[in-house]
Amino acid sequence: MRATLKIAAFCIGIGLIGTSVIQPGTVTAAPSQHKWAIVLHGGAGVIERKSMNPETDAYRAALKKSVQAAADVLDKGGSSVDAIIAAIRLMEDDPLFNAGKGAVFTADGKNELDAAIMEGSTMRAGAVAGVTRTKNPITLARAVMEKSPHVMLIGAGADQFAASVGLEQVDPGYFFTERRWQSLIRQLKKENAPLPPRPAGAPPAPAGGLAEIEPPDAHKYGTVGVVALDRNGNIAAGTSTGGTQAKRWGRVGDSPIIGAGTYASNQSCAVSATGTGEYFIRLTVARTICSLVQYKGMKLEDAVDQVVQKDLRAIHGDGGVIAITPDGQLAWSFNTPGMYRARLTEGGEIRIGIYGDEN
Ligand code: ASP
Repeated sequence: MRATLKIAAFCIGIGLIGTSVIQPGTVTAAPSQHKWAIVLHGGAGVIERKSMNPETDAYRAALKKSVQAAADVLDKGGSSVDAIIAAIRLMEDDPLFNAGKGAVFTADGKNELDAAIMEGSTMRAGAVAGVTRTKNPITLARAVMEKSPHVMLIGAGADQFAASVGLEQVDPGYFFTERRWQSLIRQLKKENAPLPPRPAGAPPAPAGGLAEIEPPDAHKYGTVGVVALDRNGNIAAGTSTGGTQAKRWGRVGDSPIIGAGTYASNQSCAVSATGTGEYFIRLTVARTICSLVQYKGMKLEDAVDQVVQKDLRAIHGDGGVIAITPDGQLAWSFNTPGMYRARLTEGGEIRIGIYGDEN
């Protein structure tokens, strides 16, 4: 299903104070000439009306809360990076999403978390993969960007770095949720794969299990991502995920790969992706979208469609992206039946969507 939002650039109000409208490929102008804006996703996949009915209100409320958290930061003149952290932290703490608490399990019954952030004004970036103890992986990605000379840290070393800069560490059992556990067990049984023991630190299994109250396979999704434009005209992108359910062998997806699942440059655009990461890595989806904007002068909506509806489909990749430019173009595009998503521009109304036919 094709589902693309085409949001007109809000050129009125941008660049009115003695400058012309900023074109793709132009570094940003002086402060306070931009309306802030946010686009957010909470994962893409087979989200069908029948399977998700009881929970859609909860998802919509969670998306709204996260947009509002980012909006509060931007409205006070805060940076796009600060806004992204505020929104993603909330979603990482919310068990509805496949990020932080509520992450999917590996085939070994563990939660291994990935996250990345990139700042468009400086093109600094930070990313982490396979983290198991840091409560908010997006804050660790930011610390890698701001407090280390590196771009990407993995595994135990990444958690050690987090502890060394004072980020909250938790027992791995913190990330456990019953519904993700049951979802893993269902998948492994279907695959006739060995079942891992219930993780240490998990609460006792509920009598009778959760199978009846949870719709099958509805909860493999829920990666979160935010792109934002602040009043200074700076854009940024952030993504956080537990990866794909039943992943093995230290598998890492696109989310923490700069240029694949996450990318930002004030010279083009900021992108956060969600979907089956292997395809997004092969196509360097986020950077390719921004290259189309930067070097071909494409409008953002055309660039996201080119990559998600054509290039990604051509290799059978499933998923979607959200994107923003410094001149205030907002876009999303996904080739799955649904994508949790929301957007808000300064002075406008929050728009929230889940299914392909909304907005
Ligand atoms: N892109 C993520 C990954 O492949 C998963 C997702 O977005 O659902 O790790």
